[in-house]
Amino acid sequence: MTLRAYYTSDELTLRTEVLSCTPTDDGKFQVVLAETLFHPQGGGQLADQGDIAGIPVKGVSQNDSQVIHVLDQPVPLGPVDIAVSPDIRSLHARLHSAGHLISGVGQLMGWQPVKGHHWPGECRVVFERQPHSEALTAEHLEHAVNQLINDDVPRQLLDQDGMRTVCFGTLPMHGCGGTHVSSAAEIGQVKVLKLKEKKGQLSVHYDAVN
Ligand SMILES: [Zn+2]
Repeated sequence: MTLRAYYTSDELTLRTEVLSCTPTDDGKFQVVLAETLFHPQGGGQLADQGDIAGIPVKGVSQNDSQVIHVLDQPVPLGPVDIAVSPDIRSLHARLHSAGHLISGVGQLMGWQPVKGHHWPGECRVVFERQPHSEALTAEHLEHAVNQLINDDVPRQLLDQDGMRTVCFGTLPMHGCGGTHVSSAAEIGQVKVLKLKEKKGQLSVHYDAVN
């Protein structure tokens, strides 16, 4: 099992250990570490980028309890230094955290968040209409979210019976395995680009600008 250090740490460099380095049919190498700071692709968020022993990481995926790092070159087993690229991490964490704010604000207005997709250029949160859902406009949502950003509400990470949960300020908690900014001001400003409701599902398309 790979220990996911990014669950509890915002550090971008770490000394850990290469447990296995396995060649694959396409000429690449799958590297498993004792501990990783690399967020794998999944949960609506793209993978971190960076390097392991100075070799660029080409992709990060998850397989059961292991995080798999894909490299073009092999790395020796044993102690190793890893580094996550700060710019990509920051972009993904900002977009993903903006999704939490949108989810939370919508939830307080009676909408049930069911899906989040936080890839750059295609961010959206999907809500399901509930009997008590209040009318939601792009302007209101954008204003409420940017108010939380202006108030710089802090992130909270909790372990609830082995489930990692995340919230900003007093918004509802969400079970989440992603990476987040440490407080809302780091997001920049959120732009709600459009709202689209179809068959009881409301998609909120958004972006975050510095
Ligand atoms: Zn999250």
